[in-house]
Amino acid sequence: MLNSKMDSTKLMNIVCMISNITFLLIHITYIILFLITKAYILAYINIFSSIFYGFMFLLLKFKKHEIFALLCGIEITAYMICATIIVGYKCGFQLCLIGLCTLAFVTKYFLKDRKLVINPIIVSAFFLTAYIFLFIWQKFNDPIIEIPDYMTSLLYLSHSIIVFIFCVGFLIILVEYVFKLEIKIRKESEVDKLTQIANRKALNDYYDRLGNQKANYVVAMFDIDSFKKFNDINGHLCGDYVLKEIASIAKNNSLNDFVSRWGGEEFVIISKIEDDLENTYKKIDLIRETIDKYEFRYNNKKLHSTITIGIAVFDNDESLDAWISRADKQLYKGKKNGKNKTIY
Ligand code: GH3
Ligand code: MG
Ligand code: MG
Repeated sequence: MLNSKMDSTKLMNIVCMISNITFLLIHITYIILFLITKAYILAYINIFSSIFYGFMFLLLKFKKHEIFALLCGIEITAYMICATIIVGYKCGFQLCLIGLCTLAFVTKYFLKDRKLVINPIIVSAFFLTAYIFLFIWQKFNDPIIEIPDYMTSLLYLSHSIIVFIFCVGFLIILVEYVFKLEIKIRKESEVDKLTQIANRKALNDYYDRLGNQKANYVVAMFDIDSFKKFNDINGHLCGDYVLKEIASIAKNNSLNDFVSRWGGEEFVIISKIEDDLENTYKKIDLIRETIDKYEFRYNNKKLHSTITIGIAVFDNDESLDAWISRADKQLYKGKKNGKNKTIY
């Protein structure tokens, strides 16, 4: 989770940086355009806005993204209202208010844990109010400055394109991020935290995926022998270490099989039947043998641990629980007969 939080902050930094550079470039272009068309008031307003976005780099340097988004929202709204009143509705300045709504949602998503981030629905309602205000204003008031028709059309087109690029760009960033996060969360939900092998949910999914191939598989359930006593003597942390080591031994010895932690100190392997059953049993028993010979080392202490395995061949469309339960019965026999055994 920490990683995804770091990713979202990093991504927000990129989004804000690109937005700031774009806003700055737009205002510098407007200074030139409005000087050419002799709309000096707007040229001055754009000089002020350019200085404003220059200072915004400082905020971004200190990662104050939420303050950046808030100040940008205020600046852009004020600018759009002034510009529309000065040169008229036909220049399409008000369109930028629509694009800003997407920035409000992206900010809320990536910076959800920060206090200053305002609810994007409230922000959008505010932009809509400004939009309607400008619509009503132009019905009763003429622009203060007349600019040439070609400039009006050019401004309208460029504002439409800017809004389009902002909306689509923000949506691409958001959707891609959510897709990646979804895949990451799904993977994490199928991995056991301690041993880093598949968990029970992943085992259920694997069983479902096998479909009518199950007759070619056996299920092996194994349980660490006298693990309670082991924990009592060596401590729970040492027990955790042994659990991890045993999971990794089982995994390394069953490269083509599905190894999962069933829960506690019990594991389940679904193994494809090799040329014959006997070889499959031997292959699984090799895990028990390897663990029996393995020298565990914890805090410079040499330790020994064993497991007992029960194996069952798939029987007639049975459920995963029924299949495992038959393996568990074999396992129980092994425990009764002295442990450190594989029973099939
Ligand atoms: P048996 O040989 O019959 O299996 O005896 P056992 O002591 O292994 O079986 P029992 O079911 O009595 O005890 C299981 C122990 O496994 C108890 C519990 O503390 C330990 N255990 C289960 N999960 C974990 C874990 O995640 N970490 C550690 N360290 N111990 C665990
Ligand atoms: Mg047990
Ligand atoms: Mg046990």
